[in-house]
Amino acid sequence: MIIATNVSKQFGKLKVLDNISVNCNKGECIALIGPNGSGKTTFIKSILGMVVPDSGFITFNGKNIIHDWVYRQHIGYMPQIGRYPENMTIGQVIDMMKDIRHNSTTVLDTDLIEAFNLDKLMQKRMRTLSGGTRQKVSASLAFLFNPDVLILDEPTAGLDPVASEILKDKIIAEKKKGKLVLITSHILSELDDLVTHVIYMNEGKLQFHKSIEKVRTDTGEEKLSKAIASIM
Ligand code: ATP
Repeated sequence: MIIATNVSKQFGKLKVLDNISVNCNKGECIALIGPNGSGKTTFIKSILGMVVPDSGFITFNGKNIIHDWVYRQHIGYMPQIGRYPENMTIGQVIDMMKDIRHNSTTVLDTDLIEAFNLDKLMQKRMRTLSGGTRQKVSASLAFLFNPDVLILDEPTAGLDPVASEILKDKIIAEKKKGKLVLITSHILSELDDLVTHVIYMNEGKLQFHKSIEKVRTDTGEEKLSKAIASIM
């Protein structure tokens, strides 16, 4: 579904992505993990076309993303920090995204809007929201257009435990429908029940890309969090 081949990116003298090649398929939930500054967000942004690699290429369903911007309609993205027009209300932001993204064939998925009770906060302006509520808006927007791929950058950061569980359950449900989920998180324990594969990066290099079963057998640890802790 998404294939990165020899992707490299340098900011000044810093090599942030160093010859990354990975293959991500339907129905997989892939944890993208690694220390701070290891290149995870830059890699995600390369997939989204927000960062242009210096070399290498990325394909989405067989087409080079540089030549086919339509692919972005199939990706729901939850950024680490959501940036919105601060004077708009939640309702206006959602309507604006509908104007940009919605077409007659898309069935809107409002599950998270309802589960997070955002329908009662539609008149609130973005600048007045708490960090957690802002995260709820970002999560709801990522899922709203029923994308085939979900890219979630630290999705539970700032969410309370109840909201985190709601989001985790939603991710599991979407994975079961055959969607591809790419997720970064520093809270490994919350990935235990979620992921099927692990991409581990360090200093811009791909250290490994393995199924969770392989991670378990290689480390002798049942839980992903313990397995990764034993590797790091
Ligand atoms: P974290 O876990 O802290 O979110 P990360 O693994 O997502 O980190 P990136 O955000 O991809 O790491 O950053 C990798 C490196 O690239 C960092 O040293 C960062 O400072 C640098 N970097 C990222 N974007 C830019 C940019 N636009 N210009 C210059 N340097 C950048």
